[in-house]
Amino acid sequence: MRRTLIAGNWKMNGSLSSLETLINGIKEGLADVKNADMAVCPPAIYIPRVSELIGDASIGLGSQNICDQESGAFTGELAPSMLKEFNCNYAIIGHSERRSLYAESDELVARRFAMAVKSGITPLFCIGETLDEREAGVTQDVVSRQLDAVINTQGIEALAQCVIAYEPVWAIGTGKTASPEQAQAVHAFIRGKLAALNTSVADKVQILYGGSMNAANAAELLSQPDIDGGLIGGASLKAVDFLAIGKAA
Ligand code: PEP
Repeated sequence: MRRTLIAGNWKMNGSLSSLETLINGIKEGLADVKNADMAVCPPAIYIPRVSELIGDASIGLGSQNICDQESGAFTGELAPSMLKEFNCNYAIIGHSERRSLYAESDELVARRFAMAVKSGITPLFCIGETLDEREAGVTQDVVSRQLDAVINTQGIEALAQCVIAYEPVWAIGTGKTASPEQAQAVHAFIRGKLAALNTSVADKVQILYGGSMNAANAAELLSQPDIDGGLIGGASLKAVDFLAIGKAA
């Protein structure tokens, strides 16, 4: 039985004081979230403070990036060992904003994935098609290619050590959510592709949906058989909304 995970991607939002208020608000309401694990991914500079505020509360902590190298001359990057010093157990990898705005290739994403796994940090591995790709009918080809970048370099077993986030790019930050049927269809395709290679990996891996998930649409999306949680952008920035998604699980 796969556990539901609701992870908040705070992106480049907030300030020290607003994010302190946010994490404290999440902590206060956490006892009412019965059927999901919760995690937050703050901007890197706030990770130490958020880690401190999480303390021993049961909230996962993730970074929004992780370097594909262990240390050295990689200006602007975050070493896995640094993230571990602040108890980060997740790292978002392959988010569409990194792929499209910062030209991250499938190959670089796969290298970041490998370094996270090697370091004991769970990749939140984002995949998904653009609107043009969906309209051209190549959604399955796109998510397959993105998955293959990891499978072909690290083997299918590596996927057992990550959380996949299917995030149709056209639904991210647009208010246009994929319908539960559209999302389920792609989630089932992803799980089926993995099952063709290794059924136990396919059964185990959590596949989250991301793209304008909110308190109003979460319950229906999360009730789909292959949707194991959500990666939440905008709606993770208010404790009450984020907690409502957790409670919908
Ligand atoms: C995201 O960026 O991962 C995301 C899902 O954003 P939003 O919920 O705002 O669409």
